Amino acid sequence: MRRVRWCLEPPRDTKPPMKFCSACGQEVVYRVPDDGDHLPRHVCPACGTVHYLNPKLIVGVIPEAVDGRILMCRRNIEPRFGKWTFPAGFMELGETSAQGAAREALEESQAEVEVDGLVAVINVPYVDQVHLIHRGHLRGPHYGPTSESSEVQLMREEDIPWEEIAFPTIYRGLRYFFDDRRAGQHSVHTLDLVRRPTREDRADIGRWLSEAS
Ligand code: ZN
Repeated sequence: MRRVRWCLEPPRDTKPPMKFCSACGQEVVYRVPDDGDHLPRHVCPACGTVHYLNPKLIVGVIPEAVDGRILMCRRNIEPRFGKWTFPAGFMELGETSAQGAAREALEESQAEVEVDGLVAVINVPYVDQVHLIHRGHLRGPHYGPTSESSEVQLMREEDIPWEEIAFPTIYRGLRYFFDDRRAGQHSVHTLDLVRRPTREDRADIGRWLSEAS
């Protein structure tokens, strides 16, 4: 089992961007608050508000059709325009991870998806994100392109364009899904991607992943 080192040092030395207090409009200062906290925060010297910035959750679903093919979308938006992904995006306030994944599926592929269990939880600290990848199934035969996806297709495992996958988390999620399905099991995988892939790494994301994790 991997040992996780926890320490009181800031996890990174760069200051996240924030200029003004959203409560009163004054300029904030970046310092350790006086309340026993151990990390620097954006603190408002005028109204005293401490602004906490925390990682964002990405929710995704691998929707399966009755014949076993899965629904894939070609990105019509940056970043990674033209690359392939399953439906995934930022979780919204007030929804559960499964609701968010179903909403993303509808927005990106017009498909109504029943979201089932988790496939993977992937930490991506270099972009301050946690990705929650679910399995799911299509509730009906309808799907199609949207403003976010130039193409939406059902694909067999052998049709997956592995060289053209948008993000490492999508690549890894798909591998977990297909490996588990072949083995006839449902597992929840966890992975920490701690290093940002370079442009060169992205040319062969499978090789990079096998070295990076
Ligand atoms: Zn303020």
